[in-house]
Amino acid sequence: MLDCIVVGGGITGLTVAYELSLRGLQGVLVEADDRLGGKVRTVVEDDFVVEMGPDAMVTLKPEALGLCTELGLADEVVAARNVPAYVVRGGRFYPIPPGLFALVPGRVPLRDVRWISRRGRLRAAGMPLQVLLHPVPPDADVPVGPTFRRWAGAEFTTWVVEPLLAGVYGGDIERLSLRATLPQAATRWSEGWRWLFQARSRRPGPVETPFRSLRCGLAGLVERLRARISSVEVRTGLSVEGVYRSEAGWVVETAGRERWQARHLVLAVPPRAAARLLRDAAPDVADLLGQAVSEPVAVVAYAWPGTWDWLGTGFLVPRAERRWITACTWLSQKWPRRAPAGWNLVRVFLTGSTPTPWTEMDDETLARTVWQEFVELVGVPAVPHRVWVQRWTDGLPQYTVGHLTWVEAVEGAVARYPGLHVAGAGYRGVGLSDCIRQARQVARRIVE
Ligand SMILES: Cc1cc2nc3c(=O)[nH]c(=O)nc-3n(C[C@H](O)[C@H](O)[C@H](O)COP(=O)(O)OP(=O)(O)OC[C@H]3O[C@@H](n4cnc5c(N)ncnc54)[C@H](O)[C@@H]3O)c2cc1C
Repeated sequence: MLDCIVVGGGITGLTVAYELSLRGLQGVLVEADDRLGGKVRTVVEDDFVVEMGPDAMVTLKPEALGLCTELGLADEVVAARNVPAYVVRGGRFYPIPPGLFALVPGRVPLRDVRWISRRGRLRAAGMPLQVLLHPVPPDADVPVGPTFRRWAGAEFTTWVVEPLLAGVYGGDIERLSLRATLPQAATRWSEGWRWLFQARSRRPGPVETPFRSLRCGLAGLVERLRARISSVEVRTGLSVEGVYRSEAGWVVETAGRERWQARHLVLAVPPRAAARLLRDAAPDVADLLGQAVSEPVAVVAYAWPGTWDWLGTGFLVPRAERRWITACTWLSQKWPRRAPAGWNLVRVFLTGSTPTPWTEMDDETLARTVWQEFVELVGVPAVPHRVWVQRWTDGLPQYTVGHLTWVEAVEGAVARYPGLHVAGAGYRGVGLSDCIRQARQVARRIVE
C-alpha cells in the first residue's frame, strides 16, 4: 500500500510528488503523456528555444521563482528585456506604460495611454472616485466588464482592461469574475478611502520588468523537479481510466490495467478530466467538477531570418479589433538566446475570439491564416522559415462569476472523501506560482 497516488504530471502534480518525496513518502505519479510538464512545454530545436505553454514566471507571485531557487536553479533565471509591450488599435501600435498592468488608472499617467481618446482618459482618471461611489464589497462576486465600465468608462474597459486580462485568461470579461481574476486588486478596491489615498500617493517610479524565465526555457523547472523526485515513482505514457475506493483508501487503474492502491489520491488534472475519473467513486464531486469551464487556446510560433527594427517584447490585440491574434510575444527580443543570431522568433496566442473557430482548421491553414494577419500588422517582408503549432484543448480555465463559490463547493465535497485531493490551474489561480502554492498545500495536508 502506497502513501499517495498523484494523477497528472503537470507543474501541480510534479510539485506534489516533489514535496512528498522530500518527506520520504512512498507513492506513484501517473502521467498520460509521454512527456512530463503538462502545459509547460519548451521545444528546443537547433538553437531555437520555443515556449509552447507558459512563457514567464512573474515576480509578483513568489512561489515559482522560490521553487527555482530551492532546486538550485537561481543562476539559470533570466529577466525579460525591459522594453515595452504594445497594444494594437486600428492596426497601429501603442506602447503600454509600465505599471498599467496593475489596472489602477490613478497610478499611471493617463496621457501615456495614448490609444484611448482624451475623453476616455478623463473618464478613466475618475476611477478612484467611482470606486468609492460604487464600491464592491470584498465578498461580492461581480463580472469584470460591467464593473470596470462603471468605474473607468467603456473605452478604458474595451481597449485596456480587456486585452490585459485576455492575455492571461483568454476569456470574455463580460463573464470573468473580478474577485477570481484580480484578487489582490479587488481587495484593495474594497478598501475605500484608504485605497484612494494609496492610489494617488504611490505613483510608480521606473518599473523593473516582472517577467522571468530560465536560460533553457521553463521546461528546465520540470526537468529539475523530476530529478529531485525519489520516493515517488514517476510513470509516463499511462492514462488513468478508473478510480475506485477501497477499505484502506483509493485504487487507480490505467488503460493497460496497471493498478495501484494508496491512502491518498491527488487528482492534478483539469477539473473535467477529474470529473470523468470520479464518476463512480465520488459522483457528487464529479457532478461539480463537470461544471468547470475552460477555453481552448493555441500557440503558433514562427521563425525567420533577418534583422528587424521593431523593438518590443510583443503586443496585445483587443477583442474589439476583431482579429485572429490575441497576443504576440517576440521571443527573440524578450529573452536572451532564444533564437540563433540574426533570426526572429515570435509566438502568437489565439483564444476563442477568432473570426472563425480555429479549432476546426488544420495546422497548416491555421499557421498560414495567422501569419497573414501578423504580416499585415507588423509588416515583416518575409515568409516564416519554421513554424510550430500547439493546441491546448483544455487550455485555460475560465474563472467566471461564481467560480470561487464553485471552488468552495468542490473543496467541501472533496473533504467528505478521506484521502481525496484536487489541485491545479482549474481551482485557485492559473499561473505557475498558483499551481505550486496549491500543490504545496495538498502535500502539507497529506503529510499532516
Ligand atoms: C498558452 C498558455 C500560456 C500560459 N502562460 C503562462 C505564463 O506565462 N505564466 C504562468 O505563470 N502561467 C501561464 N499559463 C498557465 C500555466 O501554464 C498552467 O495553468 C499550468 O501549467 C497548469 O498546470 P497543471 O499542473 O495544473 O495542469 P496541466 O499542465 O494541464 O497538467 C495536467 C496533466 O494531467 C495529465 N492528465 C490528464 N488526464 C490524465 C489521466 N486520465 N491520466 C494521467 N494523466 C492525465 C495531462 O496530460 C497533463 O500533463 C499558460 C497556459 C497556457 C495554456
